[in-house]
Amino acid sequence: MKYKACEKCARSVGLVNVAGNVMMIALKAYLGFVGGSKGLIADAVHSVADLLATFVMMIGLQISARQPNAKYPDGFGKAEYLVAISIYLFLFVIGLYIMHDGYVTIVAGRWVHPCWFALWGAVFAIVINELMFRQSVCAGTQINSPSMVAKAWESRSDVYASVAVLIGVIGAMMGFSFMDPLAAFVVGVMILKLCIESIYESVLKLMDEAPPAEIMEAISSALEGLENVVSVRQIMGRELGPTLELKLILVVPADLSLEAGEAVKAKARAAVANALGMKTRITVVLNPAEG
Ligand SMILES: [Zn+2]
Repeated sequence: MKYKACEKCARSVGLVNVAGNVMMIALKAYLGFVGGSKGLIADAVHSVADLLATFVMMIGLQISARQPNAKYPDGFGKAEYLVAISIYLFLFVIGLYIMHDGYVTIVAGRWVHPCWFALWGAVFAIVINELMFRQSVCAGTQINSPSMVAKAWESRSDVYASVAVLIGVIGAMMGFSFMDPLAAFVVGVMILKLCIESIYESVLKLMDEAPPAEIMEAISSALEGLENVVSVRQIMGRELGPTLELKLILVVPADLSLEAGEAVKAKARAAVANALGMKTRITVVLNPAEG
């Protein structure tokens, strides 16, 4: 971490995102209606999608933080994915509607003439999203949070959507009427893309997809050179919301005492948890070395 202030900056990212999106929804929707731009109204819906995504993250975190009980011994981590899927399915329908609406407007050759209000709305959206992108990408890099960096790039894609809207508004103001509904159509496509990717990712996690390769490698190297570990036989992992559940099968000398075996387990757990720096639940199984 370069500066002490980065930590504080990173903590404000969530709040800045919520505040920024709420402000943008209000302004885009208002200026879109007053300025007569379908593209800008579609972009307002896009901001609703982003705000919902942030809330999903927060709701998911809250549900998955519930303690496991006798009926749900694995806890509630996967609730996050179910919440996400249902919200994105709803958004998918909205994305389709926006595309359809843009398409119908173009085909019918209806006259759209956005005014300066719409233009300012698009410029405003571009500036705010670019600032949110810069903060998230900087803070995310400094505190080493992949999810924050991923969210930053989502803000960057919002910048492109708003640029499309701006081009559409300028085009329509110059007399190319179809360009504004075309921009709305493009924003609709971007919403669908976000929904499909997010649903796909959630389904994979519900199916207990293994953690990404870089995490698996970090686990392997953390286990390397541990006392009394002959080799690592298998690493199994799955994500339960924010918690990473791991099962490590280690080969140890056949004559190892029970006590020394327990020490190996404790050391392996600590080494992996330390290397990953995230919430983990680790089970270690010991196999005796042959021969
Ligand atoms: Zn977005």
